[in-house]
Amino acid sequence: MASDRPSKKYRASCHCQLIRYTVTLSPPLHDADSWVVECNCSICARNGYLNVYVQNECIEFETVGLESELVEKYRFAKQRVQHYFCTRCGSSLMAESIEPGFYEGVKAINVRMFHDVDVHTLQRRQVDGRSL
Ligand SMILES: [Zn+2]
Repeated sequence: MASDRPSKKYRASCHCQLIRYTVTLSPPLHDADSWVVECNCSICARNGYLNVYVQNECIEFETVGLESELVEKYRFAKQRVQHYFCTRCGSSLMAESIEPGFYEGVKAINVRMFHDVDVHTLQRRQVDGRSL
């Protein structure tokens, strides 16, 4: 992934710090071309997700990975997308497609878990997931 595009590494964790990871974003969150997705679907609305979409290799887990029993998995409706939560503090961390060929290799990362980022300063793009 050699690139001269600007990128930035963000530290992130669930609230209780059981699950810690870093996410590299290109462009960085505060770049003029960058935005987070605010979706009105049934799960995003409830959990307040503010998502960015990244390739799996942009995420490095520091404590435990998503396969850990400390991470709860949740699917609904068509069962195509799996959501991940901390089993201790309930923080909504991220989601990904588990259907081959459907957004393969990409995760939706909830930037509310990022350290040192004020979500009020981010550009938001509203997506009408409820209608999809
Ligand atoms: Zn936690």
